[in-house]
Amino acid sequence: MDKREMYDHFDQMENDLLALQQNLHDVHDCLETLRKRNMSLEIENQNLRERLDELTKTASDGGDEKTRLSKPRLNLEKLYEEGFHVCNYLYGKRRENDEECAFCLEVIYGTKK
Ligand SMILES: [Zn+2]
Repeated sequence: MDKREMYDHFDQMENDLLALQQNLHDVHDCLETLRKRNMSLEIENQNLRERLDELTKTASDGGDEKTRLSKPRLNLEKLYEEGFHVCNYLYGKRRENDEECAFCLEVIYGTKK
């Protein structure tokens, strides 16, 4: 392989790398979208389960222990602790450096229903 060939080869590798980088970027975006979607579905699923529980044991016995967080709130708390926003403003976004978010805390620990 002469010098010129080597340079051509190097250029080609560089182009390949750039293309690969673009691909990685696309896949990353795709994963990000899926992750958000998954989070939404997980929460929605929890909410529906909770609602189903409420409906199935309507009159059976009076609800006590309201000191604990409800399941959907526990789920939100889990997501929050994993480093994601659960508030309406930044829902599904990562919390940079685990910053506290008053809106998220309001959603999780705010007025109980
Ligand atoms: Zn937030």
